[in-house]
Amino acid sequence: MANIRFQALQAVLTRSIPEVKIPSPKISDFFGANVFDKTKMKEYLSTEAFQGIVNSVEKGEPIPRDLAEQVASAMKSWAMSKGATHYTHWFQPLTGSTAEKHDAFFEPTGDGGAIERFSGDALAQQEPDASSFPSGGIRNTFEARGYTAWDPSSPAFIMARTLCIPTVFVSYTGEALDYKVPLLKALNALDKAAVDVCHYFDKSVEKVNASLGIEQEYFLVDIALFNARPDLYLTGRTLFGHISAKNQQLEDHYFGSIPERVYAFMQDMETEALLLGIPLKTRHNEVAPSQFECAPIYEEINLAIDHNQLLMDLMDRIAKRHNFKVLLHEKPYAGINGSGKHNNWSLITNAGKNLLSPGKTPKNNLMFLAFFVNTIKAVYEHADLLRASIASVNNDHRLGANEAPPAIISIFLGSQLNDLLDEIETSRISKKIKDDALLWQGIPKIPQILKDNTDRNRTSPFAFTGNKFELRAVGSSANSASPMTILNVIMAEQLKKFKYDVDKLIKKGEKKDVALLIVLKKYIKESKNIRFEGNGYSEEWEKEAEARGLANVKTTPKALDAFISDKSDILFEETGVFTRREAHARHEILLDAFYKKLQIEARVIGEMGINIILPAAIAYQSKLVENVRGLKDLGLDKDTYKAQLDIITKMAEHINIVKSDIEAMVDARKKANTIENIRDKAIDYDEKVKPYFQSIRYHVDKLEQLVDDSMWPLPKFRELLFIK
Ligand code: ADP
Ligand code: MG
Repeated sequence: MANIRFQALQAVLTRSIPEVKIPSPKISDFFGANVFDKTKMKEYLSTEAFQGIVNSVEKGEPIPRDLAEQVASAMKSWAMSKGATHYTHWFQPLTGSTAEKHDAFFEPTGDGGAIERFSGDALAQQEPDASSFPSGGIRNTFEARGYTAWDPSSPAFIMARTLCIPTVFVSYTGEALDYKVPLLKALNALDKAAVDVCHYFDKSVEKVNASLGIEQEYFLVDIALFNARPDLYLTGRTLFGHISAKNQQLEDHYFGSIPERVYAFMQDMETEALLLGIPLKTRHNEVAPSQFECAPIYEEINLAIDHNQLLMDLMDRIAKRHNFKVLLHEKPYAGINGSGKHNNWSLITNAGKNLLSPGKTPKNNLMFLAFFVNTIKAVYEHADLLRASIASVNNDHRLGANEAPPAIISIFLGSQLNDLLDEIETSRISKKIKDDALLWQGIPKIPQILKDNTDRNRTSPFAFTGNKFELRAVGSSANSASPMTILNVIMAEQLKKFKYDVDKLIKKGEKKDVALLIVLKKYIKESKNIRFEGNGYSEEWEKEAEARGLANVKTTPKALDAFISDKSDILFEETGVFTRREAHARHEILLDAFYKKLQIEARVIGEMGINIILPAAIAYQSKLVENVRGLKDLGLDKDTYKAQLDIITKMAEHINIVKSDIEAMVDARKKANTIENIRDKAIDYDEKVKPYFQSIRYHVDKLEQLVDDSMWPLPKFRELLFIK
């Protein structure tokens, strides 16, 4: 029987491209058709009920019970008209993915019949059997009393005949067990602080929200090849595999046309996303072969994150129809680019003004500068926390290695704005300035269109791109709520401090605009060290960053310390985003996930090494031995089987090291498992167990290069990476 690799390769050859149905060439005809949005609410609710719900959502107030009842009934009618049979509370537990528990609408009536029911209570609150979601010791597992509660600011939608209701997930005692609760709290704190600062410039601002556009990178691989690789389906990445002769050297994939099979998948995925109201706008190839990217138009941040979580789920479902598997892992293949998720972030007022967009007048520019400089200061003050918020076992492969972007948090502004800040720093706005004309000289002119818009520095983890900041260090599989909660909360705290500092000067008799400039000038000076315009991948930068005193924490267990530092404790308590208990619980959950993922990888390496790789290598070696014996029997000279002997010996070396390294790794794992303290355990896994992954892989990949191709059991990189 052919080995599993050849069966898989055979399957790939038989692929046909499924027909993709597009509802209409006009996207506006079907955009959001599967979403219970305002238009549908208006249609299915009475005018008063509709107004009631809109008001509650806009003001962020709880929805009264009788109103919930009406909304539930309307949702049910709408969902059933679209063929839905079940409903679920859809939430984002700390496992990283989304979770659902489906219930049918139908209820028995007791007389043998049944009716379809969906009550206000069922809409508003649910008790999922949540005992096995991570809670870092907050929720006693015996209690299992976490509950989900409706988030009316994110509309319900239908997926797979199920009405999905976006919810938060909290413990019975009210502690956050998900990603949404802290995000909403951070946005609340940000809103208050930002509105206060806006009032220096514009009294009409009532609300400030963050906007977010998430660019999502991913790899595609044929499902048969995926299934022939236990490392891929158990860990999401290849733990072995020699680099393909051709990979991304020519960078021809980036500019090449999208393969037809992939194009069909993309069209299908986009259609489904658009039906769900996800405004997908761009698609293109990425640098590595079989790597792609899609990006939506930016949205209000809570919705943008829900949509990204939904999109990741959707991609996986749609890929199955096309016999693909989507790899969202940050580093599926060693030796070629990994995947990220660029978070494009800005602040928008209720009137739609982008606070990070330079304006036409000096006054507007001062407003822009206030938010711009405070963002830089916030990131400078809490760079370690931002680093922690993107830390994961997967992302360590990108951030620690020489691949975009480094673990050092720095900010790229582009030469124009960088020069501008330098100019302000050295300007002479320090004493009381009575003359307005003199004051405005202190603010250099900012052109509305910044020339660095397109000319960006791709090596920077946090770059200003014209009218928004782009956090580029987020991992492709991450929930953006983690870094976005941190970015918004540090911004909230910073803006509060800014107001305090400015008000203090005003009280001392300083003119408002002068006070604003003096404080900004001070912040520019204080946060200067985090600004970096050069190549973030270079070794010189590592050295310079160290000299500047910037942190460069390469691994997750240590990066996570920032979550529980005294400074962060104060930040979280003051802004109300996490209680101390919640922050510490989260820290524990993340460490737990970190070491468990390494533990799984270690086990998979051991199993594949012993049960798949070594048997294949030994089988080939035996063939060679047989051959040598035959040649010897013929009485031939030793020189005639020199090559065979050479291969046999080389293989023996690699085989022995693979075997002994796996044994040593198992011992290291056993030791690590006995460590009680979770941080120590995670560090031990990182420093004592993980290094074996590299050495074992090295020798396995050497064997791959020696063994007869027809006897090698695992799909090779060249087969995984090039879509036929
Ligand atoms: P790139 O060149 O990096 O691919 P684009 O300029 O097309 O980027 O933008 C990438 C993402 O940034 C898109 O999702 C886009 O909607 C988003 N974006 C644009 N403006 C804003 C904004 N003001 N706030 C948040 N995101 C934005
Ligand atoms: Mg980008």
